[in-house]
Amino acid sequence: MSDAREKAVPHLSPEEFRRLGHRMVDWIADYWARVESFPVRAAVAPGEVAAKLPAHAPEEGLEGAEGWEAIFRDLEDVVLPGLTHWQSPSFFAYFPSNTSGPAVLGELLSAGLGVQGMLWSTSPAATEMETRVLDWLAGLLGLPAAFQSGSGTGGGVIQGTASEAVLVALVAARERARRALGREAEWVAYTSTQTHSSVLKAAMLAGVANGAQDGVHLRQIDTDGGYALRPDLLEKAVREDLAAGRQPFFVCASLGTTSSGAMDPVRAVGEVWERTGVRASGGWLHVDAAWAGSALLCPEYAALREGLEVADSFAFNPHKWLLTNFDCDAFYTRDRKALIDALSVTPEYLRNAASASGAVIDYRDWQVPLGRRFRALKLWFVLRHYGARGLRTYVREHIRLAERFAAWVEEDARFELAVPRSLSLVCFRLEPRPGEAPGDTDTRNRLLLERLNASGQAFLSHTVLPGVDGAPARYVLRLAIGAVRTEERHVRAVWERLVALAGE
Ligand SMILES: *Cc1c(COP(=O)(O)O)cnc(C)c1O
Repeated sequence: MSDAREKAVPHLSPEEFRRLGHRMVDWIADYWARVESFPVRAAVAPGEVAAKLPAHAPEEGLEGAEGWEAIFRDLEDVVLPGLTHWQSPSFFAYFPSNTSGPAVLGELLSAGLGVQGMLWSTSPAATEMETRVLDWLAGLLGLPAAFQSGSGTGGGVIQGTASEAVLVALVAARERARRALGREAEWVAYTSTQTHSSVLKAAMLAGVANGAQDGVHLRQIDTDGGYALRPDLLEKAVREDLAAGRQPFFVCASLGTTSSGAMDPVRAVGEVWERTGVRASGGWLHVDAAWAGSALLCPEYAALREGLEVADSFAFNPHKWLLTNFDCDAFYTRDRKALIDALSVTPEYLRNAASASGAVIDYRDWQVPLGRRFRALKLWFVLRHYGARGLRTYVREHIRLAERFAAWVEEDARFELAVPRSLSLVCFRLEPRPGEAPGDTDTRNRLLLERLNASGQAFLSHTVLPGVDGAPARYVLRLAIGAVRTEERHVRAVWERLVALAGE
């Protein structure tokens, strides 16, 4: 070691941080104010953004706050042109990925506090506020009391994503089934063909499925004409597997599939679990409502709750449609012991009196990572700022706009709905012309979507829906309404643009 100490680079002083922080918040506020003016989809070629960045990290840091001028310039010159503007009011692709003022302030505060909430004892407020805020949310959604922390056996936790939620559910399920059976088994998990790919990924990660092609250990059950899982086929598959000596242990039902917003019959799935004896041997029913879960806020969608009383876990993403920036998945289980059995490992350096007492929740035992940031803050701010009524009004307005759009599609002879509208998701396409080959209809739809997206005026995505009863598969456009700033005029504008392109 040299004894000449190197000159330390100064931190931002409190004053400098304050000034830059105000400026960054201004920048974000301005971004939101002008986001409508940008082409929605990024129009850069691969490598174009990277080419604007030096190949190596800077050896010398910036000289104080003044040096930040260069950073603010780069936001305009490097970052903005490479963005797809998910916060644009004309962003209708995939599912929404909301952010909002209250959420960003919560995120900023969480970063500033910089606490790790892995154990109750490492920051009691992080744990207790998360538990309470998730109980609030469960109450607003009308989830069964067994999912609330007050049940003593269940409760909620913030996961990063719906994908992590299903992984956690799957490993908890296997551990519970293992204990119920008292032995290892050849495990089988079930989903529908329309289920999100995160379930397959979870099965692969957990070693249940031996790769993406393993249809023996992750069975994808066919769907009905509305793309909902068919419980009769599920039951047949479960009985086949039991007869062959394999052990069913996990099923994922979706409320709002990613492709078309289909709703699986949760109660009927639970009945299959019951009738086949899988439930009695520890079998787990997970409900993935990543996008559609937000609609449960509104009493008029109470029917979606049907069957949740037999679910072992339920997850939805406030980071999709509930004004809370990524990442924030609300995961609920009625059996927190199963999570802890599957995920708890306690090295000496994490032992502490509060955990040993059993009186507190240590959320590290409910998730994959150890560390966790204080994500409850942003949800707390969102719930307090908007209130339940504000959130319901928000969700309802998007559904109303989707209703309008669906009506325009139905009234226009050139277009058709591919499936009935699901909440704020409309799947539609150009109707086949008389005698037209299915592939040609698909091509016309693909071109329509590409021309619309290339215009920069709006951004939609597509899916392919399998054919029903021997019909060919269909290429379909998806309009998912749910951006924070979307108003009727934006929906009207994208419809008029589609009509104009269809007429060309
Ligand atoms: C978006 C979505 C997911 C994945 O969400 P992440 O939080 O990004 O993992 C899973 N399931 C459904 C039904 C979805 O719509």
